[in-house]
Amino acid sequence: MTPWVTETKPEDWAYVSEGGATIVFSYRGPHNVQFSGHVLRLRKVTLGESSDASNDAPLDATIEELDDPMVAFQENIVSKLVPSEFLPRLVVVLLDREWLKLLVELHDGDRPAERRQTDHVDFHRKKGVLATDLIGGTPIAIEIKPKWGFLPTECHLSPETVAVKTATCRFCMHTCFRAKQEGVCTTYCPLDLFSRDEVRLRRALGALWSGWYESGGSLNNLRFFVSSRMAKPDDDHSMKILARFFTTDEWTNPANFQESFASALTQALADSPVLPLLSTLQRTLDVLDVEGLSKLYARTSPGLSGDGLGSSVPDPSMEEWDDFIKVYHSDYHSWDHASPSPEHLRHYLMAYLLSATFKDCSIIIRPRQQALSITRVDPARSFDITIIDMDIKSMDRLGKWEKLDRTLVEHYKSSASQRRCIDSERA
Ligand SMILES: [Zn+2]
Repeated sequence: MTPWVTETKPEDWAYVSEGGATIVFSYRGPHNVQFSGHVLRLRKVTLGESSDASNDAPLDATIEELDDPMVAFQENIVSKLVPSEFLPRLVVVLLDREWLKLLVELHDGDRPAERRQTDHVDFHRKKGVLATDLIGGTPIAIEIKPKWGFLPTECHLSPETVAVKTATCRFCMHTCFRAKQEGVCTTYCPLDLFSRDEVRLRRALGALWSGWYESGGSLNNLRFFVSSRMAKPDDDHSMKILARFFTTDEWTNPANFQESFASALTQALADSPVLPLLSTLQRTLDVLDVEGLSKLYARTSPGLSGDGLGSSVPDPSMEEWDDFIKVYHSDYHSWDHASPSPEHLRHYLMAYLLSATFKDCSIIIRPRQQALSITRVDPARSFDITIIDMDIKSMDRLGKWEKLDRTLVEHYKSSASQRRCIDSERA
């Protein structure tokens, strides 16, 4: 039976972290079979969009049910591509408006000020998601958002984009764009992280660490959790615990800590099948690049392509997703992707959405229990890695991604940057 969140008290929960669309609380109350060892993931809404004062402005039914398909999507679709040992347990939980308001009253002060000014928990939701608490019950946990781990194949790229897109990866182009727009900067390249080469892996981890440290922990590609709370570089207490965990030293020199962090995780990631799996899924599902997909769409739906890629395409049902997975596991790999067939358009669109799910997910790395008893981390096989945030993507995003792709390439071409990213599968 679906549990009710009202079986717990709002004060049984502690704020953990939040992303653009969701906010996460961890259960700290008395032992409860359903809730102990779990986090509660709630949807947020932008301030002003939700008429909280008005009475129950009913949400569109399709949006209302969003969290239900998300759980079903992981259970029925993602689990056929990712072994269960790398997935958290997800369960739907029923919400209550008054309970949510009490939760917000108690914990809103724990959220970053800039987040509080832009959005809040959506009180209209009837359902949330309970997930395995991967950052609780462990002194430290690390979250990495790896992003795009491959370069596109040349055959579908236009003469204007081919040189740039086969030399510089999508993430590095985006970083260049964000540096100009928002002043955000990092030297992290996902192709190093996905390279299976230990020197490059270590470089990627070092760059993630520097980006985290120099941005005051505001970049979302690396996060540390200490005693179930997100840690920032200016938090001495957490930094001491992290330093002791990775180096046995007291927190003295950020550079030493960066070295030990990168060493410990290089081994763990090199030994794990998780990153190769994500890279393969991203790469094989996005086999046309958004440009090739767009050309195929224009060819197949000539009257509609002016409205943007996928604009008139309905979102797949769970049955269609299930069919697609069967195709992916069988015929898909023998299709001639260099000259894609119009009859496969819908499957190519779905493949691209699924690729986006794996481009946008995070991994949580936590020390295994036996590794905690020793003072210094034994780098070999002492971490568990779990993939999280595998949300179902919607067709109406395709047009925005197509536009963003163009913007990023044009910006990159006009910038002085000439970063060379090496895709180890293609090198
Ligand atoms: Zn790159």
